[in-house]
Amino acid sequence: MQTHILGFPSIGKRRELKQALESFWKGDLSAESLLKASTELKKQHWRIQKDAGLDYVTTGDFSLYDRMLDITCMLGAVPPRFSCCLGDSPLDRYFSLARGDVNRNIPALEMTKWFDTNYHYLVPEIDANGPWIIRGHPVVEDTRRAKGLGFSPKPAIIGPFTWLTLAKAQGGALKWPRLKAVISAYEKLLADLTPYCDCIQIEEPVLCTELLPEEAANQFRRAYSSLNAACGNKTLILTTYFGPLAGNLELAVNSGCAALHIDAVRGKEQLDGVLAALPGDMVLSLGIVDGRNIWKTDYTDTMALIERTVAILGKKRVWLGSSCSLLHCPVDVEEETALPEHIRNRMAFAVQKCAELAALNGIIEKSDDMALNENVALLKIAAAHPDSRIDKVRERAASVTVTDFSRHSAYSERHAAQAWLKLPLLPTTSIGSFPQTASIRKIRLDYKRGDLNESDYITAIKREIKECIEKQEKLGLDVLVHGEAERNDMVEYFGQQLGGFCFTQNGWVQSYGSRCVKPPVIYGDVYRKHPMTVDWILYAQSLTQKPVKGMLTGPVTILCWSFVRDDLERSEVCKQIALAIRDEVQDLEKAGIRIIQIDEAALREGMPLTRAEAEIYLQWAVYAFRLASSGVQDTTQIHTHMCYSEFNAILPWIAKMDADVISIESSRSGMELLDAFTEFKYQAQVGPGVYDIHSPRIPSVEEMVELLQRALRHISKEKLWVNPDCGLKTRQWEETYPSLENMVAAALRVREL
Ligand code: GLN
Ligand code: ZN
Repeated sequence: MQTHILGFPSIGKRRELKQALESFWKGDLSAESLLKASTELKKQHWRIQKDAGLDYVTTGDFSLYDRMLDITCMLGAVPPRFSCCLGDSPLDRYFSLARGDVNRNIPALEMTKWFDTNYHYLVPEIDANGPWIIRGHPVVEDTRRAKGLGFSPKPAIIGPFTWLTLAKAQGGALKWPRLKAVISAYEKLLADLTPYCDCIQIEEPVLCTELLPEEAANQFRRAYSSLNAACGNKTLILTTYFGPLAGNLELAVNSGCAALHIDAVRGKEQLDGVLAALPGDMVLSLGIVDGRNIWKTDYTDTMALIERTVAILGKKRVWLGSSCSLLHCPVDVEEETALPEHIRNRMAFAVQKCAELAALNGIIEKSDDMALNENVALLKIAAAHPDSRIDKVRERAASVTVTDFSRHSAYSERHAAQAWLKLPLLPTTSIGSFPQTASIRKIRLDYKRGDLNESDYITAIKREIKECIEKQEKLGLDVLVHGEAERNDMVEYFGQQLGGFCFTQNGWVQSYGSRCVKPPVIYGDVYRKHPMTVDWILYAQSLTQKPVKGMLTGPVTILCWSFVRDDLERSEVCKQIALAIRDEVQDLEKAGIRIIQIDEAALREGMPLTRAEAEIYLQWAVYAFRLASSGVQDTTQIHTHMCYSEFNAILPWIAKMDADVISIESSRSGMELLDAFTEFKYQAQVGPGVYDIHSPRIPSVEEMVELLQRALRHISKEKLWVNPDCGLKTRQWEETYPSLENMVAAALRVREL
């Protein structure tokens, strides 16, 4: 069987690409040195794949910024606002698209999440005018070079349907008439690649969603027959990932491609359907090593899957691969020297995942029982570790009953019970965090380094909280917050205090461009060791007569932004986190906190890609939120916050969360999303953000009055809250203070109308 991965992380073991890019942008590194550094990284990555024993090394997986942008540049689909960059060097032009051009005041291409991952791509813009000038693609040179160095390269490119589906049409332009031009550029690219390789990976993850419109589905077959012709006798691998092919299975197996790659981790259940539909000569690449997590593959389960496939197709027609690109996992476990051995032994990052593929192949081809036995033994030891299964945690999760998911009374009764809060009409509040000033960051850093002892740290953070409360009092806000000065990150802060979590030293994953994140790791049963926020919130409340809103991160968001153990259902892990947050909610209430906000910033993005799977997810996700939030009295007000605006389709689920108040992003869409709230008759209170916190601009009183009046067309005065779109931690006080001053003035004015 042939073995390959769909892609290796670009960023480098020690984030070398990040360093090179950022020095280049600062002007400290020449273009030549940047390209040299990236060539070195690519070579290293090819060597890792070859040394692991893989049959192919992947090219075209590496990008200086983003692979969608690489295709956009190849197509020359550059929006007209960048036309003044035409005289710049290709590299400068490329980065202008990615990051904008501050001097010329040109905003970058928009960035958004790549399917349900935490990676962000640059959204192509398609304009009515403007011919495209087709240019080369770096994958051709990389493939030529890899071949020259004695590797067997397999170029990987994002496919035309995925590119076009994700592109945004601007100003009335139509996307699909551009397909012909797109296809001819791809034909040229494929023809340029064929001298240097035997097979080409063309990625159409859009086939695993319900995104592909009817119009496109009709053209898919024709387009792929041209693309196959452009490849000559080389194998075109139609590559799908992030889920089952579901409704697009027919389209994929009839594409005329010589091979099909399926995600056999997230789309495990599709295997029988695929095997039944696969044409007699099509090769099947099985994505069996999970590219989305950090754990070792369970060889026993995986072998069963491979054997089932081989029994039907024969070894020649089966390839073994990673489920998706390894971009979504960190580079090398060897870098982790501080983790307990029982956790480290369970982990496989990109380097180790390459070796796993070769090992699985060896087990079949050479009956390498040693590798199999070793894997079985390791996973057995891991499962037996006391942290993996804590009886008390399991028993508590198992004994949860229907009443634990429900508030005592329905919303209307709770609303009456909460009148004692004596909030004015159109209450003003914020989303939680306030500017993370240099002084706040220094306090946390000094404490982390041991330069500040615990009691001095507490004193210093309290000083920040006090200042924050004073400012809010002066602004005249109605519901105050403590400001989150003690939190570096809304998930990490809780992960560090919960049992079952650990943190890597170098487990960085690219989020976009040079930006990386280091997600917490959930390796064992999750439980709360002690109260996590109560002291800070109580201190804040002691300084004011106004209600201070307790601030927590919700279970779904903690789950979605962590690497989650793969030996327990995600819904179960989420339930454990929910119970830990529930305890915190109840402790806050006991301490006298009357309003508690539980943020679920990640609920929407964690949604699987197909409707059927999304329904299952929403069911347990919403109930996890309810489990976390329902243990309080009717008199306590529960808030939640979501920082995006595209949830019309899931509004019934949002309503099922049964929060008393929800705050959402909406200033950028001019309150448009509130249409959905009218249609659906959302019964609880809503705080549609009245200003965009992503920009330093100070919004005027008038424009916020206007937005509030627009909101009042959809939401009655008794239900409307006044707040910004999201937390203010990335902003400066210079703009935050006057913005909030104007926001409060706008609320006062609208109250009187
Ligand atoms: N309470 C958090 C904050 O204000 C919410 C952040 C978020 O929604 N991403 O920072
Ligand atoms: Zn937010």
